[in-house]
Amino acid sequence: MATLRQQIATTALTVTKFRELLKRVKANRPTDDLELIRKAYDFSQKHHAGQTRASGEPYLVHPLEVALVLAEMKMDPVAIAAGLLHDSVEDTSVTVVDIRKEFGEQVAHIVEGVTKISKIDFATREEAQAENLRKMMLAMVDDIRVVLIKLADRLHNMRTLEHLDPERQQKIAKETLEIFAPIAHRLGMGKIRGELEDLGFRYVDPIAYQQVREAVEARRKPGEAFLSKVQQVLSDKLHEAGITAKVESRIKRVYSIHRKLVRQRIAVDQVYDLFAMRVITQSLQDCYAVLGIIHNVWRPVPGRIKDFIAMPRPNFYQSLHTSVITSDGTPFEIQIRTEEMHKMAEEGIAAHWKYKDGPVSAQDEQRLAWLRQVVEWQRDVSDPNEFLSTLKIDLYPEEVYTFTPKGKVVVLPREATPIDFAYSIHTEVGHSCVGAKVNGRMVPLRHKLHSGDIVEILTQPGHKPSRDWLAIVKSSRSRNKIKHWLNLHQRERAIEIGRKLIEKEARKYHIALKELKDDELQRVASDYGLGRPDDLMAGIGYGKYSARQVLAKLIPSGSEPLAEAEGAKTGGIASVVRRVFGGDQNNNAIRVKGHGDLLVYRARCCNPIRGETVVGYVTRGKGVAVHAQNCPNVLNLMYEPERRIDVEWAHDDTTPASYPVKLTVFCDDRFGMLKQITAVISDSKTNIRNIEARTANAQANIDIVLDIADLKHLENIINGVRKIPGVHDVQRLQKI
Ligand code: MN
Repeated sequence: MATLRQQIATTALTVTKFRELLKRVKANRPTDDLELIRKAYDFSQKHHAGQTRASGEPYLVHPLEVALVLAEMKMDPVAIAAGLLHDSVEDTSVTVVDIRKEFGEQVAHIVEGVTKISKIDFATREEAQAENLRKMMLAMVDDIRVVLIKLADRLHNMRTLEHLDPERQQKIAKETLEIFAPIAHRLGMGKIRGELEDLGFRYVDPIAYQQVREAVEARRKPGEAFLSKVQQVLSDKLHEAGITAKVESRIKRVYSIHRKLVRQRIAVDQVYDLFAMRVITQSLQDCYAVLGIIHNVWRPVPGRIKDFIAMPRPNFYQSLHTSVITSDGTPFEIQIRTEEMHKMAEEGIAAHWKYKDGPVSAQDEQRLAWLRQVVEWQRDVSDPNEFLSTLKIDLYPEEVYTFTPKGKVVVLPREATPIDFAYSIHTEVGHSCVGAKVNGRMVPLRHKLHSGDIVEILTQPGHKPSRDWLAIVKSSRSRNKIKHWLNLHQRERAIEIGRKLIEKEARKYHIALKELKDDELQRVASDYGLGRPDDLMAGIGYGKYSARQVLAKLIPSGSEPLAEAEGAKTGGIASVVRRVFGGDQNNNAIRVKGHGDLLVYRARCCNPIRGETVVGYVTRGKGVAVHAQNCPNVLNLMYEPERRIDVEWAHDDTTPASYPVKLTVFCDDRFGMLKQITAVISDSKTNIRNIEARTANAQANIDIVLDIADLKHLENIINGVRKIPGVHDVQRLQKI
């Protein structure tokens, strides 16, 4: 418990600060109603009562200081009230609902946004994290004031960083340099950015900071003397020309000097332009007039004149820059800009913001659009891939921002699935992904992720990606990874087929494949311009070369094939394909229209069952693959429409066929669940081939392989299982 004396001291301190706040708001926005601010102060005081900061000061000082920074930005009472309340949801028992009740929707919305940002963990060292944050902010910031409060919050935390332990200092300072200062920069807020950078630099690299500081201090006196002389010369010249302008001189910021040292790889005593001048004019024309006068007095350094007035920087910064050299050889930099441009350079988005008051609505939308644009433009100034990034402007709202259970941000395209999430974590995680939990609940792999989802990927070692994933993934990364895997393994399969075809062909000559010498195979492969025997086998498997031709090159001339063996006429392909692709007797339930004798097999990607609309596709050397009409691969295959062929289910009632179909049931893990599911299945007189369950957090995924006669049969079972209480979804897995 604080003593009475302490309480009085606390109150005196915060009351003084609060008066200062009101004074500043009144000065900047005389017509504003201060009631909301008073109320927020009372509320904040009540809820932070008894809390102290690491400095030992009452906690209330912090929200007050944040509000003061906001008042300096000329923010409106809503923003300042939100600033006073910004930590109340995080650090006290107050909820957003309470805030909404007391202060209305706008304040509550902003406080909620600030609280959300505070919860993101930016600790990961990847460079991408900064980018993620930027996007994160865009996703959450439908009110610019959220960012401004966060920046004000960070500024005060940096100003009082000395009270924290070294480890926390490092973490917070680094975050400030990597994330918050760049955001301030992107929003054109030069003043806050400068202070954040210098404060951050001081903690992140204290030695370098000290060196620069000392170098600046050592040259401060002669530098200031030089600047005041130069300043006088220029003021006189401007006066002569009848131009009214403010001439300022300044020592450059510590961090910007440091950056220059690093960039130019020079020692601190080699930096000459620690000093700079600024001329603030009353009109745009005067800017150019001033530039002319300056170049008349001093010699400009070639290539250093930059016209950011005609060509504003992406964050709307405008100024003329030039470097000149005095007659005794001292170079210095001068910036020339109007009052309005100056305000923009210092305050950025906040400078714009204050011109518009009133309800947050269409204008805010515009500001947000502006923010997005600024952030976007700024981003790729040094990116060679500029076209792509410009394109991304349009893609932005199309993204969702999800989290790992540890709080790392994962940015994915809209409608991305857990598979996309898995691949963005690691390729292997993607390949072995078997399921996912979103916000603690099991979901199907095709589940669409939303912003704010916490996603946990369930993997199974040895699990393999499936071609149907291509139809549900949204990110190009996952698409490429899956395709790459499939190509790699397709080749393996092609090699296997090639071998079997050669074997089959060779058997006609009573030759076993192993009798064929490796160097012989190598020779023939070379004949075809291929590197290795495997390439040759793959070529046969893909149908590029015929097994017979290849064999002819392999075996001694004059060998006669045996009399046509049984099955040889339909080609070795049929049985080979059956073996390799697991084709079964049910295939003949499908007929190729007009071609009764063509080899058909049910595509493994979709395993169509009787009753489904099917399409045929002529493969290279493997016969006709029959896909379900809605199979994702059908679309992919259609780039060669000439290979499409009409197929239909044969009306063959004499041989009742059944197909193995795999279902996954997503359900609660409760007593009796499995029994109810199997009851539904056995009621429809269906054979269960296999059943497997995985459980976690009271949720279960149950994989069931059933013998299914046709589509209707399957639909009955799915509908039956879906009706069981606690079953969330039933999904047919294309692959078995
Ligand atoms: Mn805070």
